[in-house]
Amino acid sequence: MAARRFAGDTLVIASHNAGKVREIGDLLAPFRVRAVSAGELGLPEPEETGETFVANAELKALAAAQAANLPALADDSGMAVDALDGAPGIYSARWAGAKKDFNYAMDKVWRAVQDKGTEPPIRAQFICALSLAWPDGHIETFEGIVAGRLVWRPRGVYGFGYDPMFMPESEVESGQLRSFGEMPPEEKHAISHRARAFRLLINACFD
Ligand code: IMP
Repeated sequence: MAARRFAGDTLVIASHNAGKVREIGDLLAPFRVRAVSAGELGLPEPEETGETFVANAELKALAAAQAANLPALADDSGMAVDALDGAPGIYSARWAGAKKDFNYAMDKVWRAVQDKGTEPPIRAQFICALSLAWPDGHIETFEGIVAGRLVWRPRGVYGFGYDPMFMPESEVESGQLRSFGEMPPEEKHAISHRARAFRLLINACFD
C-alpha cells in the first residue's frame, strides 16, 4: 500500500534532544514545512518503553501527534557496538546518565569494549528509526543505518552524542579517517543513519 503523504504545513518534531531537533530541522529545510519542536509546544516527553528503535520512534511520534493535534515526526536512534551485542543501542541516551554527559557515555562504551578484549577495528553502527504519525493514529516508519568503527580518543567539535568516537566506513575508504565529530554538518547529513531514514521518508511521504 502506498504511504500516506504529508499534506499540511506544520510538523511537530517530537524530540527534546537539541542535537536531533537541529539535524531534523536542517534536513527539512528544503521542504516547505514549518517545524516546531515538542519543547516549544511544551509537550511532555513520553517514557521510551519500546524494545526496538521502531517501537520507540512510533510511540514518541504518536504521543506528540495526539497531544498537539498535528502530524509529528519522531526519531529514535542510537549507536550499536558489535562487540557489545548491540549495546548501548536503544539505551544510547540512557548510558549518558541523568546529566546527559556523553563524555561519560563514550568512556563507558570504550571501557566495556576494552573489558571484552576486542581488537580493532571495533565495528559499530548508528541506527535511526523515523516515524511520522498523524492525530488519527496512522504511522509511517523508515529506518536508516550507517556502518563504521569506534575511534579513541573522541575527537571533533561537530555533531552531538557519540559522534566524536564514531568513524563511518566511508572515511576509512577515502583515507580521511575523520570521526562524525570532525565532519561539518552538511557532510554528516549526506551519509548519516538519520539522513538515510529521512530520504526514505521524503520519497514516500513528501511531494
Ligand atoms: P533517543 O533516540 O532519544 O533515545 O536518543 C538517542 C541517543 O543516541 C542520542 O542521545 C545520542 O546519544 C545517540 N545518537 C543518535 N543519533 C546520533 C548521532 O547522529 N550522533 C551521535 N549520537 C547519536
